Amino acid sequence: MTDQIGANWAGTYEYTAARLEHPSTVDELRAIVTGTDRVRALGTRHSFNDLADTAGTLVSLADFGDAPEFDTERMIVSVAPGIRYGDLANWLQARGFALHNMGSLPHISVAGAIATGTHGSGNRNGNLSTAVSALELVTGDGELLAVDRSHPEFDGFVVALGALGIVTRVTLDIQPTFDIRQDVYNDLPWSSVLSEFEAITGSAYSVSLFTTWVGDSIPAMWLKTRMDAGEPTTMPPTLFGAVAASPDPQRSIADGGDNMTVFGGIPGPWSERLPHFRLDSTPSNGDEIQTEYFVDRARSSEALSAVRQLAEAIAPHLHVTELRTVAADDLWLSPAYRRESLGIHFTWKNEPEAVRALLPRIQAVLAPFDARPHWGKWNSLEAPDVAALYPRAADFARLAEQLDPRHRLRNPYLARVLGL
Ligand SMILES: Cc1cc2nc3c(=O)[nH]c(=O)nc-3n(C[C@H](O)[C@H](O)[C@H](O)COP(=O)(O)OP(=O)(O)OC[C@H]3O[C@@H](n4cnc5c(N)ncnc54)[C@H](O)[C@@H]3O)c2cc1C
Repeated sequence: MTDQIGANWAGTYEYTAARLEHPSTVDELRAIVTGTDRVRALGTRHSFNDLADTAGTLVSLADFGDAPEFDTERMIVSVAPGIRYGDLANWLQARGFALHNMGSLPHISVAGAIATGTHGSGNRNGNLSTAVSALELVTGDGELLAVDRSHPEFDGFVVALGALGIVTRVTLDIQPTFDIRQDVYNDLPWSSVLSEFEAITGSAYSVSLFTTWVGDSIPAMWLKTRMDAGEPTTMPPTLFGAVAASPDPQRSIADGGDNMTVFGGIPGPWSERLPHFRLDSTPSNGDEIQTEYFVDRARSSEALSAVRQLAEAIAPHLHVTELRTVAADDLWLSPAYRRESLGIHFTWKNEPEAVRALLPRIQAVLAPFDARPHWGKWNSLEAPDVAALYPRAADFARLAEQLDPRHRLRNPYLARVLGL
């Protein structure tokens, strides 16, 4: 089946593919892959750049595969690639289970999110890709391949940018369900951020700091506290100099409104507190551009001070910056590969020219920190600089050559950013 392709979720990138197909079986998918010169998988279109695009055939797996299946002895769930995280979260919660973390948006597909190392926050929480214990994929040669953590190169398969194959099944680690409370603190002094960063981001299961870079304080700090770990049932009125916000359950620094998950310290299931946005509402009109860079968390203070030097240039074009932490992992192309990380995220106004002009300046001040870009967001870094940030990049290139010898899965993004 083919139809109009259109743009990404934000409306900032128009796909150039010749056609969009919706296979519903592995055999249909294999026939598409082997019958074309160029093919890429499309998730829920939430990336901001040309990462998913191809000159040939785009494949959506939104209608592909069976319902989730779980194994409560091994504590894993196996899911279709196109399932949205929010739907999976509700399915697991209804059965008493949980994922370790969620991104801010529950509308993204599992296969699309793990392909880019999508993350939430938490000093001890790896990105969403770290929960993947097994994958099935149709390689660039049309072969169906199953790999799990026992495969010697499994760490190369997960954050794979769609370059190794089209994923047809994903197995994720699960754990017993847990409750979370969300609390908001306002006016966190920059002096605290710079001197006590690790303590601040370690003060709850998941911590997000929101800033526009100007001023002496950060307007909002969101704490998502797990209620099953002996955590306090009341929160202090002040924390690191920030003041507890009045318990307005729907307060949002980004854009306000009732599209946010519940705040005000009201405990609720992980599935309804770990994402920032609610699944049953649209997060915004999408009129935005996003960028994110990951640096060594041990150097947070220096890196944040470097970006702050550009505050006056950044602020006019910015909706908001969110600062989150991600635990180190071993996934070859993960932005948190072997590095405890701070993610410095920018939600820009839809002002492409201004953003394009700013990115090299931000990258220049972050260059001393070997800042790795978020694969699904805007950056102007190019190979070989990007490859140099990833010690296993050459191994990944070899794996991509092995699984996609005809280069069907290659596209201009992979050439430009990774040199593939
Ligand atoms: C409002 C908003 C909020 C966001 N919040 C966060 C956040 O909190 N944290 C974060 O890290 N990122 C965040 N992102 C970025 C987003 O999570 C990533 O860009 C993610 O990759 C999008 O997933 P998707 O399903 O839309 O995939 P797409 O953007 O459609 O595709 C992304 C990549 O996945 C590949 N892919 C998709 N399906 C398959 C498959 N079946 N097999 C192989 N490859 C596949 C594509 O080929 C492409 O390379 C946000 C984006 C938006 C728009």
